[in-house]
Amino acid sequence: MAGIVEIKRLVKRYKGNVLALKGIDLEIYRDEFFVLMGPSGCGKSTLLKTIAGILDYDDGELYINGKDMKNVPAYKRDISLMLENYALFPHMNVFDNVAFGLRMLDKDEEEIKKDVMETLALLELKGLEKRFPNEISGGQRQRVALARALVIRPSVLLLDEPLSHIDYRLQRRFASLLKDIHRQISGTAFILTTHDQHHGLSLADRMAIMNSGLIEQVGHPEEIYNEPHTLFSARFVGEVNTFMGEIQEVGADSVWVKTDIGYLKSRKPNAADNLVGRRVGYIIRPEKIKISKTGENAENSVKCIFEYLNYFGHYVEAIFRAPHNVRIKSTIPTYNLPNFKVEDEYWLSWSANDARTIIKPSVVEGVDIEDLIYGR
Ligand code: ADP
Repeated sequence: MAGIVEIKRLVKRYKGNVLALKGIDLEIYRDEFFVLMGPSGCGKSTLLKTIAGILDYDDGELYINGKDMKNVPAYKRDISLMLENYALFPHMNVFDNVAFGLRMLDKDEEEIKKDVMETLALLELKGLEKRFPNEISGGQRQRVALARALVIRPSVLLLDEPLSHIDYRLQRRFASLLKDIHRQISGTAFILTTHDQHHGLSLADRMAIMNSGLIEQVGHPEEIYNEPHTLFSARFVGEVNTFMGEIQEVGADSVWVKTDIGYLKSRKPNAADNLVGRRVGYIIRPEKIKISKTGENAENSVKCIFEYLNYFGHYVEAIFRAPHNVRIKSTIPTYNLPNFKVEDEYWLSWSANDARTIIKPSVVEGVDIEDLIYGR
C-alpha cells in the first residue's frame, strides 16, 4: 500500500544554520490517525508546515497522493492545516469562516451551503452560523477552526498542537471529538503534533517519536511502549524505571545486567554481537512490578524501602528507595492498594520477560547513555 504522504530524507534548514529536519523518512497512509510526538523544539511543527507547503524544504523528497510536491503551492496540495492559534477571520461569521476554503475553490453557493451545514452538524456547531468568533466560546472557536479545515474534505488534515492551549476538560472533549470525526469520515489521513504523551498514545493509530530533527521510532503506540528501540523512545512513551548498567552474561534468550541495585535479568536485546561489557539502560515499566512483604521467588527481586504515594484517582504511584538511593516507581490500581507503611521494607519483583535491556540511547549521534538517564 502506497502512502498518501511519502517523505524521503527530508532536510529543512532555517536561517542561521538551524538544522530543524535532518533527513526524515516517513510514510503515512490513507485513513490513518498519525501522531508526531516529541519534546518542544524537536521539529514537529517544521515537518507539519513543510508537508503543508507553508515552508519549503532544502533537500529530500515529499510526495502527496503520489505527486512530487517540490514547488507545488500550499493551496494545490489537497491538504488542510489547522494552526495552533486557529487563525479564524475575526470579521467573518462562523458560516463564512467555514465556507472560506470552498469559495477559494470556486464552488457554487448551493454546494457550499450544503457542505458547510453538513460540517457544522458534524462538529456540533449548528445554530452558530451567524455568530462572529468573539461571540463564541474558546471550545467552539476551536471546532470552527477544525470545521474550516475539514470542509474541503482534504486527503490530509494537519493539526498543529491542537490540544496545547486549552484546559484539561476541553482537551479531553476535543481529543474524543477528533477520534469520532476521524472514524466518521473516510479518505482523510489525520496528522497531529503533540508534546504530550497521553494525547499521543490515546489518539494515534501509528506514531513517530521525534528528537532533534530525527525520528527515533515509528510504530503503533503499544509497539513503541513494549519494544522501544532506543532509550529515548522508552522514556518518552509512558512511565518507566531506568537503571544504568553493564551486560555481564548472555544466555540463549536472556541477559544479566549489573546495576546499582543488583544483577538484573531481562530478555535478550535484538542486537546480537558483543553484548558482554556493553553499557546499557535496563528498563522495567511500573505496572509490571509486584510488591510483597516476604520476597518472592521471582527472576528479579530487589529489597526496597517504601517512601510515598502519588495519587492519580484510579491508580497510585508508589515510590520506593532501592540500594544506593535508586528510586523505583510502581503503579497500582487504587482499588487494590495495600496499606503501605513509610520506611517499611518491601520486595519489588518482576519477570525477565517484562524487562528490556536497551543498547542504543538515541538515533541522535553523540547522546551519552548516562546523560540521558540522569538528565545531565
Ligand atoms: P517543535 O514543533 O517540535 O516544537 P519546531 O519545528 O518549532 O519544533 O522547531 C524545530 C527547531 O527549529 C527548533 O530548534 C527551533 O528553535 C527552530 N526553529 C523553528 N522555527 C524557526 C525559524 N523560523 N527560524 C529559525 N529557527 C527556527
